[in-house]
Amino acid sequence: MTKNAQQQESILHGVRVLDGGMATELEYQGASINGPLWSAHVLEDAPEKVIAVHRAYIEAGAACILTSSYQVSRMGYAEYGLSAERADAALLRAVELAHTARAEFPDRRIVVAASLGPYGAALHNGSEYHGNYGASFADLVEYHRSRIQVLADSNPDRQPPDLLAFETLPSLEEALAIGEALAPWPELAAWFCFTCGDDQHVAHGELLSDCAAAVARFPQTVAIGLNCTHPRLLVKLIGELRRASDKPVVVYPNSGEDWDAEGRCWTGAGDPASFAVKATEWFAAGAQIVGGCCRTRPAHIRQVAEVAVKRAL
Ligand SMILES: [Zn+2]
Repeated sequence: MTKNAQQQESILHGVRVLDGGMATELEYQGASINGPLWSAHVLEDAPEKVIAVHRAYIEAGAACILTSSYQVSRMGYAEYGLSAERADAALLRAVELAHTARAEFPDRRIVVAASLGPYGAALHNGSEYHGNYGASFADLVEYHRSRIQVLADSNPDRQPPDLLAFETLPSLEEALAIGEALAPWPELAAWFCFTCGDDQHVAHGELLSDCAAAVARFPQTVAIGLNCTHPRLLVKLIGELRRASDKPVVVYPNSGEDWDAEGRCWTGAGDPASFAVKATEWFAAGAQIVGGCCRTRPAHIRQVAEVAVKRAL
């Protein structure tokens, strides 16, 4: 293993607890997250609310926080008449806000992961949950390359993120496109998290194990996992990941509630206590890092942190 690879792999050493949903929590902080570019508005107009969300998750026990940049991209901004410069600045701003929150906890080791949503997140049509984009491979590479370049660009006045978190990936094709986009920067660290609709396949239909085996070959990969997936699928999917590669497994599923389109409400158990019971099973199944995605809050993460502490005793 090269020195570089060792440094990359050590980034997540000892990290067990990731944060929870950003959008959900911003709403509770009183931020308006209506509209397709809500994160742009929050980043520009209410940065203190983003910091407050990070702080709440760190206080709950998160040792890794995701920046508020999931849907920030030049393509997404251009659709609303906003410049590429503004998109790039928003990406860097999100990283800066996470570092600001981390600095409030000098005695803790907190990893800052840059949240990078899939191509579908910029289309604002839910296509990240099926992956049928109607985009070419080259489009996907360029979409990811432009953001990687902004984050990789070294500037002594700025702290870079510790790793790039590619999230909610629906397909093998998009994962391969990211690998190509990352190729000029072998020194970067990244994780790849897929969204799955059943207990074997990613949303677009490929086997999760095939996706994991493919991304494990990239020199930047420090962890592979799942997010934005129903918790009931996780134990089986964690098994698939562990069979496919020896990379650390990171999981941050949704709370467990189901959206009832007819009744227009969330149903089912998504409370923090039942999330803790499931988190125990995910750690036991071999997940190294557990956090939450949609509809999870600091109370969920506090429960995960308690489970992680008990396991360590
Ligand atoms: Zn989600």
